[in-house]
Amino acid sequence: MQVYKFGGASVRSAEGIRNINRIVSGVKEDLFIVVSAMGKTTNAMEIVLDYFMKADHQAALTKLAEVESYHYDIINELFKNPEVGFAAIRPFITELENYITRGVGDDYDSWYDRLVSYGEIISTTIVSTYLTESGIENAWLDLRGLIVTDSNFREANVRMEDSQVRLKKAADFTKNRIYIGQGFIGANIKGDPTTLGREGSDYSAAVVANLLNAESVTIWKDVPGILNADPRLFENTVHIPELTYLDAVELAYSGAQIIHPKTIKPLENKHIPLYVRPFGSPDEAGSVIKATTDSPIDVPVLIVRKNQVLITIRPRDFSFVLEESLSKAFAVMNKHRLKVAMIQSSAVSISVCVDNSRYLEGALDELGNEFKVSYNDGLELLTIRGITDEIVLKTTNGRNILLTQRTRRSGRYLMRE
Ligand code: ASP
Ligand code: MG
Repeated sequence: MQVYKFGGASVRSAEGIRNINRIVSGVKEDLFIVVSAMGKTTNAMEIVLDYFMKADHQAALTKLAEVESYHYDIINELFKNPEVGFAAIRPFITELENYITRGVGDDYDSWYDRLVSYGEIISTTIVSTYLTESGIENAWLDLRGLIVTDSNFREANVRMEDSQVRLKKAADFTKNRIYIGQGFIGANIKGDPTTLGREGSDYSAAVVANLLNAESVTIWKDVPGILNADPRLFENTVHIPELTYLDAVELAYSGAQIIHPKTIKPLENKHIPLYVRPFGSPDEAGSVIKATTDSPIDVPVLIVRKNQVLITIRPRDFSFVLEESLSKAFAVMNKHRLKVAMIQSSAVSISVCVDNSRYLEGALDELGNEFKVSYNDGLELLTIRGITDEIVLKTTNGRNILLTQRTRRSGRYLMRE
């Protein structure tokens, strides 16, 4: 069997969903389809959540009505009989309305997962109902009951053994050839919904592929495959047809937005190849990520990770940084979920570059109890793989660089945005 994943951009319009139909109808073997929330629905649901947390129930309901009508417009355009589509998603909207009017926003992270996960529940319901209407039989699965995670809300970790037992039973491909499930979401053992981190649907697809021993995963994206740089930021980008798992992990870690960093591990474990293919031109090959390749990447790769913060930490008492204080500092950052992209240490200080996030303030506060802390925000981290002096000059000339790390093969430059 194969796993196909369609991201938010692929399902943002009726036309996109018709295209899924076209792609899927050409597949004759068993298929598990993972779908993200439509378009910018996750962002919109985050706004619903923010109002809810502020106990502004009216504003939350108004924003939810916007989300609902966005989906209704798509259904209207897509279905022969739109009533069937409306009826399929209405119960979920009602559940959300009930949470909003009756719930008390106490814990942000668990409410995030409870409410925001409906984006995927609704998108998969629309895709599944539409495929059925078009004569493509399929079974819709609620992965909140099948992908079992820990209770680390908003960044949950999948418990592979527990999930495998459940998923294999639910998706056994005896009565059905096609299953449809949500990216990004799962639930803890008690059944509380969880999410796997923003952009986590790729990871879901990889987890499903691992659990069901898929032959391959295909991520359908609105790009021609994997490129050596983001074409929105750099000119003359080059297509990379083949990458190893290790290349992919490095690129994702450096901030390449092409796939979620957690995606590779479940695939690498079972040597499952990952194809990245252009949604708009399904006949093109795209790129493949696999264990080994005969054509190693021979162009420089440029990756920009935006919205970075440089934090410098000094022990208050001149004790050596590299001892206990190092582990203390990292324990605090880990607790506050800071994602560390770069580390540099000296005799008396440690500097780390982290993603800016809503957790930053809490982390800085707690670090401040123990250390002298200073920080700069509004930075971007440029990673160059296959470095040459010419590229360094071209990309960093005249920029304000706060931190540099260079090896023979690659360079990293933390600069003001
Ligand atoms: N819908 C989620 C997000 O926008 C997950 C995903 O798209 O991968 O982050
Ligand atoms: Mg997405």
